[in-house]
Amino acid sequence: MIAATAIIALVIAATFRQPLEAGLLQLHLMWVLAAFSFGCLSAFILEKAHKHTFLQQQQLARAARIDELTSLWNRAHIERLFDDERARAERYGEPFTVILIDIDHFKSVNDTWGHSTGDGVLRQFAGLLRQNLRKVDAIGRIGGEEFFVLLPQTRGEQALVASRELQARITAFDFETVGRLTASFGVTEYHPGEDRVDTFNRADQALYAARKNGRSRIEVR
Ligand code: GH3
Ligand code: MG
Ligand code: MG
Repeated sequence: MIAATAIIALVIAATFRQPLEAGLLQLHLMWVLAAFSFGCLSAFILEKAHKHTFLQQQQLARAARIDELTSLWNRAHIERLFDDERARAERYGEPFTVILIDIDHFKSVNDTWGHSTGDGVLRQFAGLLRQNLRKVDAIGRIGGEEFFVLLPQTRGEQALVASRELQARITAFDFETVGRLTASFGVTEYHPGEDRVDTFNRADQALYAARKNGRSRIEVR
């Protein structure tokens, strides 16, 4: 726009410096105006198209990392974050721990109050995790009512303390419409040298044990 305005000013100035016949001058000015309008229109259309592509790319990048319902990380991104943390642990010898959390009897929430109330519970649950964990902890939803927390530079015992506090907050929370809920926890520290699947499997086993032993429990493996 600035360039177009500067050019039109120059053309008009040049026109008046060398006076033309009235008819020719009119034609000249009309031509300048038409060229200017066409330039503006092209710039406007290009800008719109560019903005649309940019927003689409942003949306795709977000969907690749974020769980739409809760705005927590999705499974694919949690796995990437795990691999990054694993690389750091291998390089610097720092410990880290993961926690798997599963809401107990969640199916009955859906069955009793409907799917959209169930969605609301998942959102509130995500909010509870965000509020009660550290900024550095990565939180994701990796399945229906299953959540994953990655705690950098944290030993299993420290994660157990954090899990107990978190569990107390969850148990005391009054979920909209539904009221009180509980959750089961599986906690495991990363063992140096092992693969991602080994840690994930151990966390799964811990969670399985927590559910098998009566739910609303924390098991460490
Ligand atoms: P347990 O105590 O053994 O964990 O049982 P549960 O009922 O919590 O777990 P189960 O695996 O039997 O059922 C999970 C339910 O979660 C079933 C499915 O319909 C529901 N679910 C999965 N994803 C979503 C979702 O995004 N929104 C809602 N509202 N429900 C979901
Ligand atoms: Mg469950
Ligand atoms: Mg489950």
